[in-house]
Amino acid sequence: MRFFALHLPAFAALALASPVHPPRTPAAVASHALFVRQDIQTAINASLPNVTIFATGGTIASQGSSSTQTVGYQVGLGVQQLVDAVPEILNISNIAGYQISNVDSGSVNQTILLKLAHQINAELAKDDVSGVVVTHGTDTLEETAFFLQLAVNSTKPVIVVGAMRPATALSADGPLNLLQAVTLAASENAKGRGTMITLNDRIGSAFYTTKNNANSLDTFFSTEAGQLGFFVNQIPYFYFAPSAPIGLTHFDLANATSLAHVDILYAHQDMDPALFNASYAAGAEGLVFAGVGAGGISAKAREAAEGLFNATGIPIVASHRSVDGFVPSADMGFAIAAGFYNPQKARVLLQLALTMDYDHDEIKDLFALGYPKP
Ligand code: ASP
Repeated sequence: MRFFALHLPAFAALALASPVHPPRTPAAVASHALFVRQDIQTAINASLPNVTIFATGGTIASQGSSSTQTVGYQVGLGVQQLVDAVPEILNISNIAGYQISNVDSGSVNQTILLKLAHQINAELAKDDVSGVVVTHGTDTLEETAFFLQLAVNSTKPVIVVGAMRPATALSADGPLNLLQAVTLAASENAKGRGTMITLNDRIGSAFYTTKNNANSLDTFFSTEAGQLGFFVNQIPYFYFAPSAPIGLTHFDLANATSLAHVDILYAHQDMDPALFNASYAAGAEGLVFAGVGAGGISAKAREAAEGLFNATGIPIVASHRSVDGFVPSADMGFAIAAGFYNPQKARVLLQLALTMDYDHDEIKDLFALGYPKP
């Protein structure tokens, strides 16, 4: 296991450009100016629940140069500006905010992930905190959400939210998404449902939700397992009572200072077999391939992967490049079947298993937990 030196969470008092959305109720916003938890609780409304927002960046925190620009904008808004833009939030919850990073989600790395896991675990351990919200770019949001599902040990809601349009755009979706995320995090009914992704009125499980469209607002899609719920008039409605996905595992990363290096290789016709050895040579401790069909791979790539596995014992997980479906548990020889985990989620699971020093058989058992059972 990798160890780390405990660091205290730092409040973000970012000096950022003026808010994109002028505060609609200046008085409420003024009382909220400092993200110091105790001040917010007492100054706003002690009868409201407390929700903590961890901001990481993404389109929800981005600004374009005009109201019609919906590509090519820049990240830059801080957590305070995100909240200032939605004063309605203060009718629902007292808010504390932490600025964890301010990056596009393709740049979210293990430092950010571990910081989130450590701080969220600490926050949810407080009796007076109802839930947390993570604001995040949508491109890799599902990876962070799944990571938090595995790394946060609490029945309180963890909601990961983003936006497809920057804050400056006509019909920007970030403010309503954020309001819904805070509503969900503050909701009693959201307990025991794990980490959830909410966007565009839908509520999905971090286990099953994936980004389905690079551009459109209705991008998050829950595969075969379906959505957990939806919002009507900003009230969350769930289809089911709380339940845990099969395969749910918890990893205690309290002492972890880094995550294992796992790469994803994308299979295609005539895949270059050299990629397996190249990844290993570059330091990969585990590999996932996004297989054709249900974990398929070309004969020569298979030979290379098998050779690498026999020579090094490095775990190689077979996932699927199709958006939906699963890789069945039939004996795959050198490869471990990913079950329903898509490549990016299989990578997170393998990363955490390797970080916690699971051996090959334990990793195989871990992935086997995720197969739908007859
Ligand atoms: N560029 C963005 C990201 O950080 C995309 C988004 O947030 O929608 O993932």
